[in-house]
Amino acid sequence: MIILVSNDDGIHSEGLSALAAHLSKIGQVYVVAPDRDRSAVSHSLTLHRPLRVQQLQERWFAVDGTPTDCINLAVNGILKGNRPDLVVAGINKGANLGDDITYSGTVSAAIEGTLLGLPSVAVSLAGRQEFDFTVAAEFSARLCQLILERGLPEDTLLNVNVPPGSWESIRGVKVTRQGKRIYGDVVIEKTDPRGKKYYWIGGSKPGWVENESADFHAIAQRYISITPLHLDLTNYAAYQELEKWDFSL
Ligand code: MN
Repeated sequence: MIILVSNDDGIHSEGLSALAAHLSKIGQVYVVAPDRDRSAVSHSLTLHRPLRVQQLQERWFAVDGTPTDCINLAVNGILKGNRPDLVVAGINKGANLGDDITYSGTVSAAIEGTLLGLPSVAVSLAGRQEFDFTVAAEFSARLCQLILERGLPEDTLLNVNVPPGSWESIRGVKVTRQGKRIYGDVVIEKTDPRGKKYYWIGGSKPGWVENESADFHAIAQRYISITPLHLDLTNYAAYQELEKWDFSL
């Protein structure tokens, strides 16, 4: 059983080592991860320069690219001939919920795995200050065991978010849907020491559209959230509506 592990926080992230350590109990783990923090790079693929790979230890590789590069390079290059049975990305330092997943390098690593036809999971620890990855890592191992037994539906990845804290503080597991973010006024404008303006994205506290079945709601209620995601972005209601339009040329 070969498990490919990556992340977007970089190869030195504690979340990655916790995940790799726990998954090595159920399979042979290969780690192929960015050589630095590449959070919020989304599904970016490096096409205009070569990628360098550094082997740090047995089955651990650092890549000077994105999480998507790592999965692609691992499956089609580094592990060639040793096709992984599972791709797991994480454990991300911070939540990946609702619309925010469109920015996520962690989720994108799992998307790349899915595109390559492999069962894939993204795992995030939904903490803000305290980051103890034990619960998330233990749960990941349990979930991966289930996936290896049952498989995943085609074109489907799992986005998993684990509340911070001990097992005792967690109420259970909820299968959820992707929540809807309300973005605030998040650009901060300041002036640098040379009198030039600069901007910083992501300042104010965000909100959510209230929905009891949403991922963020499960986390707020201290449940582990599992959202099945698929890569077909088609809006089928809009598809039917647009079909009625008169496009006659
Ligand atoms: Mn990250």
